[in-house]
Amino acid sequence: MLCQAASKMAIKVIVLDPSENCPASALAYDHMVGSFDDSATVEEFAKRCGVLTAETEHVDVATLEKLEQQGIDCEPKASTIRIIQDKYLQKVHFSRHGIPLPEFMEINNLEETKRAGELYGYPLMIKGKRLAYDGRGNAVAKSEGELSSAIDVLGGFGRGLYVEKWAPFIKELAVIVARGRDNSILCYPVVETIHKENICHIVKAPADVPWRIRKLANDVAYKAISSLEGAGVFAVELFLTRDGQILLNEVAPRPHNSGHHTIESCYTSQFEQHLRAVVGLPLGDPSMKTPAAIMYNLLGEDEGEPGFKVAHQLIARALEIPGATAHWYDKPEMRRQRKMGHITLVGPSVGVLEARQKSMLREEGYENR
Ligand code: ATP
Ligand code: MG
Ligand code: MG
Repeated sequence: MLCQAASKMAIKVIVLDPSENCPASALAYDHMVGSFDDSATVEEFAKRCGVLTAETEHVDVATLEKLEQQGIDCEPKASTIRIIQDKYLQKVHFSRHGIPLPEFMEINNLEETKRAGELYGYPLMIKGKRLAYDGRGNAVAKSEGELSSAIDVLGGFGRGLYVEKWAPFIKELAVIVARGRDNSILCYPVVETIHKENICHIVKAPADVPWRIRKLANDVAYKAISSLEGAGVFAVELFLTRDGQILLNEVAPRPHNSGHHTIESCYTSQFEQHLRAVVGLPLGDPSMKTPAAIMYNLLGEDEGEPGFKVAHQLIARALEIPGATAHWYDKPEMRRQRKMGHITLVGPSVGVLEARQKSMLREEGYENR
């Protein structure tokens, strides 16, 4: 999607990805096959780029820091990626900057974990510090008796774990924040994200929350991103609690699933905005050009061919709905729960779009999903 936006602005994107037939390779100006976690490969790749950016935080950050010292332009800065790729470090950073977040602590053994459980209560959220995405890296213990099995599921203490106090949220919200190279900051409208088994499933824009909550969410997101360095778009995931508090969940230093709706619903998509930001063009207008949007992720329902069939049927159904756009990522392998594409509906109100989404799903027997 970054490549699609780049072609409209005559920006040439070279992609580094280990897979020969990665989705971006068909759209990129050039594709270097190699690991973004391998120092020599990243160095060779960087020599070919005017500016280096990453759409995953799980990269070899020590190499990025070395390259920055050699004068390579990396946006956002390696220091930002270093903070974000370790979720525990991220929490330490944001709490030092006065950003509200669930209480958290590092755990190194079962004794410490039990103490955390006594302090924070249950359910207790246990998280891996690194290499987390789509909830892989999180485990919930409902009681002290479940602690050791939850820790086993995560692969044990050796990988680096920490715990978070359970956030009793009534909604999850997200804000995409863009920062230009001149340090100008713009926020996209606050959206609601709905997760299924820890995976983002549906995004509703704008979020149906009072004006005060929208303002608070924007303020927290703005403050969080102001504490990081470098240009680009950032996603700030938030919890809204029953008593009207906003707590930060985590930040992604890149375009994000909660901003996919912006392709159709905003004057400047998050992908165009990210490119504008990192190459030093002026930021575009982040406001919505349609009153409402719903983004529905096409998650793999099944392995292989049967999974493809279900997704393609749903796309065909969606295209009968006014204001629907399908995005298919063309990932070579279909796996259960994998993000394979998404459908965006735009229209006069979130309520109308909810009804349209419901009819899209019911017609294919999706009503329980
Ligand atoms: P992503 O794909 O967004 O990077 P991730 O693997 O980094 O996901 P998190 O964002 O940490 O995972 O958590 C996934 C989901 O789990 C959250 O969106 C939320 O629904 C739930 N969750 C996370 N932390 C807590 C918490 N402290 N209390 C309650 N629920 C939580
Ligand atoms: Mg994450
Ligand atoms: Mg998350």
